[in-house]
Amino acid sequence: MLNPKIVTALNHQINLELGAAYNYLSMACWFEKENLAGFAQWMRIQRSEEHIHADKLITYLLDREGEVDLAAVPKPPGRYKGVREVFDKAYAMERANTQAIDELYRLAAKLDDYATQSQLKWFLDEQVEEEKTFDEALSLLKRAGEDRSALIYLNDKFGARAAAGPTG
Ligand code: MG
Repeated sequence: MLNPKIVTALNHQINLELGAAYNYLSMACWFEKENLAGFAQWMRIQRSEEHIHADKLITYLLDREGEVDLAAVPKPPGRYKGVREVFDKAYAMERANTQAIDELYRLAAKLDDYATQSQLKWFLDEQVEEEKTFDEALSLLKRAGEDRSALIYLNDKFGARAAAGPTG
């Protein structure tokens, strides 16, 4: 049996993952509108990954006989000033998510919940990957600066990203 505090915290994390998915969808739509299909495709893959993260937590809760309590997902922004702003916002969101996972892990440790800690290890590793991905993406975008042809090149390059497998 899971501690009720862990159940609440896991449900909160599910909402954060779904919120991230919703933000990435909004970003993908904005890129489509700007005719930057490569960046849009990249953001759609991010969205799929967030759904996988939420599903992993849902499966874990159900396996442990914890109650899944889905809450309303906050409305994401629909407009952005430019490519850089989208990626800056996405990176900030991932860093905040890393903090949320850390907090969840701290709670599981405090409650001597070893199974939840084990489950969360995958998420800790995943956040290292996510932050690395955005750090690299932003470094490329910073180099491209205001150079339009560099931006078109990056749009194509980002569009070539392969979709994540079932494990994210
Ligand atoms: Mg996630």
